[in-house]
Amino acid sequence: MAISNDRQTVTIGAGVTWPPLYAYLDGFNVSANGIRSGNGGVVGAILGGGPFGFMSYEFGMSNIARSLDCVLADGTLVTASTDEHPDLFWALVGGGNNYCVVTKAVLNTVPVSSALIGTVSWGSGVSEQYIKSVEQFALHGAEYPKASFEGQTRWVPSRSSEISFDGYLWYSGEGNEPLGLENFTAPVLPITRGNLTRTTMGAWSNAFNYAPPLGTRAIFHWLTSPANATAARIAFDTYYESIASLADVEGFSTTFSMLPVTPIVTRAPENAMGLGSDDSPAIWYVESPLWSRPEDDARVLEVHAEANIKIRENLSAAGLGPLPFMYLSDIQKSQIPETFPSYGAENLRKLKTIRDKYDPDRVFTELVPGGAKVALS
Ligand SMILES: Cc1cc2nc3c(=O)[nH]c(=O)nc-3n(C[C@H](O)[C@H](O)[C@H](O)COP(=O)(O)OP(=O)(O)OC[C@H]3O[C@@H](n4cnc5c(N)ncnc54)[C@H](O)[C@@H]3O)c2cc1C
Repeated sequence: MAISNDRQTVTIGAGVTWPPLYAYLDGFNVSANGIRSGNGGVVGAILGGGPFGFMSYEFGMSNIARSLDCVLADGTLVTASTDEHPDLFWALVGGGNNYCVVTKAVLNTVPVSSALIGTVSWGSGVSEQYIKSVEQFALHGAEYPKASFEGQTRWVPSRSSEISFDGYLWYSGEGNEPLGLENFTAPVLPITRGNLTRTTMGAWSNAFNYAPPLGTRAIFHWLTSPANATAARIAFDTYYESIASLADVEGFSTTFSMLPVTPIVTRAPENAMGLGSDDSPAIWYVESPLWSRPEDDARVLEVHAEANIKIRENLSAAGLGPLPFMYLSDIQKSQIPETFPSYGAENLRKLKTIRDKYDPDRVFTELVPGGAKVALS
């Protein structure tokens, strides 16, 4: 990691993950418009179409990379940016592992030195107000761009039959009043555990070990709906009703995250995902179940597949989505076939043409395992 003299950019190697990057930037009183929590790779988040995090509510998402150095399949080293190989640069943000090996990235920094951040809970039995607050944030949160929220509704059947309403709160404005988060604090929605404290992204993101125990089974599943409390209610109720039978699966727990998306978040530069003003306000959802034993994979996946068919049926019966946007970073493997097509036919065609140009022998399509393959979409 090496910051520029003017502190406007930071150059990183491809192995850098978010917590060390945030800690490094703290030392210069700036930050990066990166992910919220987790020890994920910076380059992986860019290739997955992001990052999307707390600061995306002020600066937009998917716009952190200024340039990406890449080794192409024939061994050539190129720099991709808006000036050099702009087609490759466009394809890399959201185009996944189809084009090259990224070895180095130059990232834009953001002038954020500290924030009020909270890992909090509102307890159980507050679904109505919680969902309403998510909807209101998606609709009006753009008025307070220094505020953001990620909702995590959680069910840990070995601990309680109740769903708990948890989340992260963020406010990077001055002072101790988190303006814009009134719907997530007393008297509207009193916090029952945790509080907002002024800290830095480096200190906050390095304070936990996010990894579940080694060997834990895990998936993500992505869903998008309009910014509407009824849609969120349908998705939430259908999910938890449909997966209730998994309570006896060893080590089972799940999080159904709700991410309100304001028009600032989707104000990305012209991008391969087609992300733009049509995609907001919205609510994005991520299901992230965990369980212990490979023997339970089939059962957990089958129940989730049925749950997600029902969620989509119920949303469309109510005329409330689902909406097309898919976020490559957070999809389930079974969602690969619909992900690149969700970018739009013209963008998918362009992604394929650029892939043909930079990797005509399909090295990254055929020899790199995993990931979503543009050529097969
Ligand atoms: C706990 C947790 C929290 C998260 N929170 C957020 C969040 O708040 N916001 C958000 O936007 N995302 C979030 N994510 C999603 C995360 O950004 C993606 O999973 C991302 O893909 C992780 O990147 P990685 O490099 O660690 O993963 P990997 O699985 O190693 O890589 C992802 C993909 O990119 C390819 N790839 C990685 N590095 C390179 C490279 N150098 N060159 C070419 N191809 C490469 C891989 O082949 C793979 O297909 C979270 C994930 C987790 C697990």
